[in-house]
Amino acid sequence: MARAHTNRTALVVGGSIGGLVAGLLLRKSGWQVTICERSPVPLAGRGAGIVTHRALWDSLFAAGIDPAMEDGVVVENRAAFARDGSVLERSSYHQIMTSWDRLFALVREEWGEHGYHLGRELAAITHNADSVVGHFTDGTMLTADLLVGADGFRSSVRQIVAPDVQPLYAGYVGWRGMVEEGDLPPDTHTAIFNIFGFCLPPGEQLITYPVVGEDHDVRPGHRRLNFVWYRPAAAAHELADILTDAKGHTHALSIPPPLIRPEVIARLRADSERLLPPHFATLVRTTKAPFLQPIYDIEQDRLAFGRAVLLGDAAFQARPHVGAGVTKAALDAVALAQNLASHNTIDDGLAAYQAERVPQGKRIVQRARHLGAYMQAHLANDEERAAAQRHHSPRAVIEETAVADS
Ligand SMILES: Cc1cc2nc3c(=O)[nH]c(=O)nc-3n(C[C@H](O)[C@H](O)[C@H](O)COP(=O)(O)OP(=O)(O)OC[C@H]3O[C@@H](n4cnc5c(N)ncnc54)[C@H](O)[C@@H]3O)c2cc1C
Repeated sequence: MARAHTNRTALVVGGSIGGLVAGLLLRKSGWQVTICERSPVPLAGRGAGIVTHRALWDSLFAAGIDPAMEDGVVVENRAAFARDGSVLERSSYHQIMTSWDRLFALVREEWGEHGYHLGRELAAITHNADSVVGHFTDGTMLTADLLVGADGFRSSVRQIVAPDVQPLYAGYVGWRGMVEEGDLPPDTHTAIFNIFGFCLPPGEQLITYPVVGEDHDVRPGHRRLNFVWYRPAAAAHELADILTDAKGHTHALSIPPPLIRPEVIARLRADSERLLPPHFATLVRTTKAPFLQPIYDIEQDRLAFGRAVLLGDAAFQARPHVGAGVTKAALDAVALAQNLASHNTIDDGLAAYQAERVPQGKRIVQRARHLGAYMQAHLANDEERAAAQRHHSPRAVIEETAVADS
């Protein structure tokens, strides 16, 4: 049974969607919560769309968001296209596409001003028997009953409590980009704007879907068409080359969009003409600034380390094929708050949270790995080969990409 814990304190590291949903839910069950975000300026989205699932909206409503706020661009149909532009497969699946900015604004506004600190970066953690101290780079030290590591895929908290857990490169990258609806040629708009579109060049996959426009504009003519193009890139060769900027510096893990070399983008555009159905090539060609997301898996066996606990991308990161990042972070936050409320001690609540979310996180990572196996240049074992075999048919791809986790 849920109890109110009015004298408990939580320090949430990371003020993005996972940290805010956790903070809101803990605060609702009586905790005194402080959120510390590294960025010195308010967070702003990278602009790419978010595929939403019922469970995401349910989690946001549980955190106090008004159900009337559920909206975005509705997509009902999916289609996979051949290289010549003909349709190979069609299916139907209702989905609402929104933007990171929109979701972030909802939770950020619900939180309010008190207890949310920008420019505060966690550097170290000290564990006591029944409390935890967060040490920040500005010299601040904050003591709490619980420290929630909601600090994303490069999590400092994870590096401190579980240094052996490292992102594992999947062997391919996602090129992403968006075009304003009004900038699309009419025939491309008619063919692919209102659907979840797919094409499958050999060993690759490109998906498109419409998303909201600037300031959450959902009016026809003001939305955007978003794409993700998954392409193999061997770590030592292609990936290293793509991550190298014009000054010859090779970036670790990813590269800021403005630093991608023009010839890399030119190659992408040339490849789109060679490999993609005409409307998809038009979309890639029309995109002003494509950006890169190398694909990584993060998984682990533990989420609770004394009074420090991980959630969201800090805990598990699945490849984007399942469209689960934001939804999983929100569900982790719900599970954490519920387990802490339904157990007498914080330690028991954390143990129950870990027991619930580790298997779930592993399942999502595994499912995404299967969906992405087809793009891996090197398949390590029989399981991956079988997954690649299964998940390259247009029917399997359009029926399983970014559908709700059952
Ligand atoms: C600014 C921003 C924009 C994004 N835009 C998109 C998008 O357009 N599409 C999409 O699919 N996903 C986007 N994401 C990723 C998406 O939010 C996550 O994949 C998912 O929601 C899981 O969220 P999370 O809260 O676990 O992690 P994240 O959203 O990655 O948030 C982690 C937060 O922790 C902060 N942080 C990291 N280290 C420290 C530290 N040492 N001390 C304090 N704070 C720290 C980071 O600055 C970040 O705000 C974005 C994330 C951010 C931060």
